[in-house]
Amino acid sequence: MKKILAAAAMSTMGAVSAGAEGIEIRPNGATPSVIGKTPDNFTGHTVITPLFPPNDTTRANAGLVTFAPGARTTWHTHPAGQLLFITSGQGWVQEEGKERRTVNAGDVVWFAAGVKHWHGATATSPMAHIAMTYVVDGKNVDWLEPVSDEQYR
Ligand code: MN
Repeated sequence: MKKILAAAAMSTMGAVSAGAEGIEIRPNGATPSVIGKTPDNFTGHTVITPLFPPNDTTRANAGLVTFAPGARTTWHTHPAGQLLFITSGQGWVQEEGKERRTVNAGDVVWFAAGVKHWHGATATSPMAHIAMTYVVDGKNVDWLEPVSDEQYR
């Protein structure tokens, strides 16, 4: 009996001490979605669902962003880069000074640190992506000017 209790105590201790490096599940709906802020951060209709905050290992936050047709971010940069996983629809991404590029569900996009860019839906299709945005000195984005209709089309 004594041995079993000791094992149970160790098991409990193990569960407690493993908390920081164990499994953490954030259930769907755990974080309220918000409407993207216009005109400072977005043009058009966007919905942002925070998914997971940064931690010491990833140093990135994860969020789901859904863009209505015509909706896009403003021009912006990321101090430590950003990964996009296109989860549905078709969208456009553009680096300043380069051609706009089309992305589709299943595509993965990396924006290097400091690269000025925007991302959004196409003019005729919605698009959703999960963004993993890396944080440095407590910051993960610098928002710039809106993408004009002339630049977008
Ligand atoms: Mn970005």
